[in-house]
Amino acid sequence: GKVLVSGANGFLAVWVVRAFLENGYSVRGAVRSADKGVHLSKIFNEYREKFEVVEVPDITKGRRCEGAFDEAVKGVDAIAHTASPYHFKADDPAELLEPAIKGTVGMLESARKCGTAVKRIVITSSTAAVVHDEPTPQTFTEADWDDQAVENVQRDGRNASNVHKYRASKTLAERAAWDFMKTHGSSLGWDLTVLNPPLILGPILHEVPSPSLLNTSALQMYNTYATPDFVSGGGCWVDVRDIALAHVLAVKKEAAGGERIIISREAFWWQDWLDATPEAAKSNPKYQKGKPGSQKDVIPPVSYDASKSVRILGIKYRDMEETARDVVRDYEERGW
Ligand code: NDP
Repeated sequence: GKVLVSGANGFLAVWVVRAFLENGYSVRGAVRSADKGVHLSKIFNEYREKFEVVEVPDITKGRRCEGAFDEAVKGVDAIAHTASPYHFKADDPAELLEPAIKGTVGMLESARKCGTAVKRIVITSSTAAVVHDEPTPQTFTEADWDDQAVENVQRDGRNASNVHKYRASKTLAERAAWDFMKTHGSSLGWDLTVLNPPLILGPILHEVPSPSLLNTSALQMYNTYATPDFVSGGGCWVDVRDIALAHVLAVKKEAAGGERIIISREAFWWQDWLDATPEAAKSNPKYQKGKPGSQKDVIPPVSYDASKSVRILGIKYRDMEETARDVVRDYEERGW
């Protein structure tokens, strides 16, 4: 089979491309400009018969079809749509909402009008589209929706918090995808699977000239290890290699069609990562120790029920020791 992966040069997407190639698929990676494909062609050189790069300069604009991907979808059997802005720097919420929503709907439009062979589309949503702020600790499931962020952004616009702007972009994009399926479902040759990961962490394959240019989640991890200020917060996490493989399984498994699936290992405090790699600070004094053990018994405010991912996709999650070890090794190899 052949898969189109959008945003192919991103932190997650490079691992998604690799997972598809390792599982025997051919991959077409969509990037915004040709220069962003150079690193990809280099790292996937051994797969050069099976890997190609296409340029899609603006995912919010269509050409002959209403979507931007009308050329890119031709001849693929499946699509993994990962491209979407993930940062907390937008002043105008439209900076996040537009590419998130129009990119998603545009991809579906292109597949509907131009792609005849597509059998499964996987969209990378997020637990940002699931979680909502609650006064007491909660375990969220696929039945939860983050309408709170959407309401806040609709009410407050530019003055909404940057976290809510991002969360609203993911919620609205995912809702738009399910609405599209409701409208067109019976006439489509494919079905949709949506994956909802929390913070994605792990070693890096994409092109990163210096740590300060890391993507949002990997930068938080790096700052935890490499900046002296104590990092008190936390969240929930999944290893980038596990969520990448989840995209392959979501294409492969019939039963994943029509499903929204949380892909989460567990809740964490940043301190837990430092505690998981006690030898790191010994081998390089630049890596922090934080306050060892200080967060061990603090109850996390947010958890996710990931049982559906095990049931439907059969995911086996990496644990923190393995991910932490591989991340520190990655820093060391890069001289970070
Ligand atoms: P990256 O920033 O590393 O990658 C984002 C990708 O999307 C890049 O290829 C980027 O292209 C592309 N993109 C962003 N904005 C636009 C735009 N306006 N037009 C076209 N392409 C765009 O992020 P991640 O790999 O972390 O995120 C990938 C996906 O996973 C996103 O959908 C994100 O919401 C989701 N996700 C990520 C989590 C995480 O912790 N990392 C957690 C949960 C979900 P370019 O390089 O050209 O900017």
